[in-house]
Amino acid sequence: MHELSIAASIVDAVTESAAAYPGARVTAVRLRVGALAAVVEDSLQFCWEITTEGTPLTGAKLVVRMMPVVIHCAGCGVDAELEGVQSFRCPRCGELAADLGQGRELEIESIELEEPDGPSEPASERVSGLAG
Ligand SMILES: [Zn+2]
Repeated sequence: MHELSIAASIVDAVTESAAAYPGARVTAVRLRVGALAAVVEDSLQFCWEITTEGTPLTGAKLVVRMMPVVIHCAGCGVDAELEGVQSFRCPRCGELAADLGQGRELEIESIELEEPDGPSEPASERVSGLAG
């Protein structure tokens, strides 16, 4: 299954990024998916649950943002968002577009982390507070 390998690579990438924040828990992962990436969101969500189970990412939400296809038309120079992926013709002049500016991406937009202590004052302040 296509989505299963995608989910697995997201888990890998997120785990690697989250390693920079020891003790922090990943609460959500935001993903940008182009309309041409051929990803079925329901299927990806299902695979995400399976893949994250038993990992530090258990319970993290996967937020998928679907991106429309954008073409750059050589005929009239317009950058146009396409309604669907059935036709790659410029909506303005009808020229067949060869240049896809956007639509294939599959990337992690952001990762939301929860610090172990929650959002509180800086560590230095807490230390002085304890001493005093
Ligand atoms: Zn055009």
